Order: sequence, then structure tokens, then C-alpha cells
Amino acid sequence: MKKEKGKINENQIREKILEKIRKEKSISQKELWKKLKLKSEIGTRILLKLIREGKIERNVKYVNGKKIYFLSLPTPKIKVIPLNGIEDTVCFSCPDINICSEEGELNPISCSKMSNWLESDI
Ligand code: SF4
Repeated sequence: MKKEKGKINENQIREKILEKIRKEKSISQKELWKKLKLKSEIGTRILLKLIREGKIERNVKYVNGKKIYFLSLPTPKIKVIPLNGIEDTVCFSCPDINICSEEGELNPISCSKMSNWLESDI
């Protein structure tokens, strides 16, 4: 199978951007391009896609009156579960609860029902 050259490069750049932000926790956009040795026109186009996909957050800070974009991974949303409402959690009504486990193929980390439930009403 023939590989699409442009696609592979974009995927590699996406991974490098995500890896660097994951490692640095927070990094200015300018510093990111410098560390990745990447032209800002190319990086910005890919970065904007990652932001639209919700994989990266970009915040503006003003340092000495200069606008600087800082990049970080999105802050995970936390759902507060009232203890008297624990029976309303998605797992209690799930038909797969007996085969779901932390180490298993079916697990709470990759479960879409769990993700949807956590993202609801936030
Ligand atoms: S994490 Fe998902 S699959 Fe596992 S019991 Fe809960 S809802 Fe079911």
C-alpha cells in the first residue's frame, strides 16, 4: 500500500506537538516551534486542528504588554457525584459490569458510556 507523504508528516507533527506539550505541561507557542524546529505557518495549521479537536488548550497571557499564547493539555473535567446518587452512575445499569475491569479490554478509562456520562451535566 502506497503511503500519502503529506498525511504521514502531518500525523508525525501532531504527535510531536502533543508529546512536547505533554512533557512540558505548559509551553509558549513560539517556544514550541523553536524546540520542534518547525515553521510557525505549518505548526499553527496543525495546532489549530488539535485545539478544535479539544486535544490542546491555548490561553493568552500578556507579558510586558506582549501577547503570548501558552499551550497545555486540556484540564480534565471533574464530576462531583453526590453519595446519595451513586446508584445513578452509569455502571450500575450497565449490562457489561461483570466483564468490565481496570485491566480488561472493557474498562472505565476507554468506556464511551462512562465518558458520555462524565461529560453530561457539567
Ligand atoms: S465502565 Fe463502562 S463498560 Fe464498564 S461497567 Fe461502567 S459503563 Fe459498563
